[in-house]
Amino acid sequence: MKKLLLILFCTILIFGGNKAMSENAKQPLEQPFAQGEINPFGKYFTGTTYLQMLCTKDDVWNSSVGNVTFEPGARTNWHKHSGGQILLVTAGEGRYQEKGKPVQILKKGDVVKIPLNVEHWHGAAPNSWFSHISIEPNIPNNQTTWLEPVTDKEYLKNEVK
Ligand code: MN
Repeated sequence: MKKLLLILFCTILIFGGNKAMSENAKQPLEQPFAQGEINPFGKYFTGTTYLQMLCTKDDVWNSSVGNVTFEPGARTNWHKHSGGQILLVTAGEGRYQEKGKPVQILKKGDVVKIPLNVEHWHGAAPNSWFSHISIEPNIPNNQTTWLEPVTDKEYLKNEVK
């Protein structure tokens, strides 16, 4: 009986520990806004990303604001916004690149002002979670055009080996 209780106790310990670990993985970043759910626009991204809308498109502010969280290595496809975009970096380390320019490193507090119709991508560093607030201004005159995925070769081009 004692042995049985011991086994039961150990089982609770093990499963309790696993539960804590999985909850940790679910909310891996210390960040000011909610991580949200799996990104419904995931087909335009590489890797897993999460989206929490903070201000949906409407006629008052003409802006769409959302919190986007990227797992390590995750990034958007190449794309462009006809009304531009502003990124406010809130946590982790990220990457940003405009077509034909070097990849930039993004850190908490960075602001990226993406001009109208400039082809670009944004995402996490290879070894870091990352989150940014995405502001799409000029709605309803701001359409996003999604293009091809950022290949591993493009993504890793400037990474230190
Ligand atoms: Mn963008």
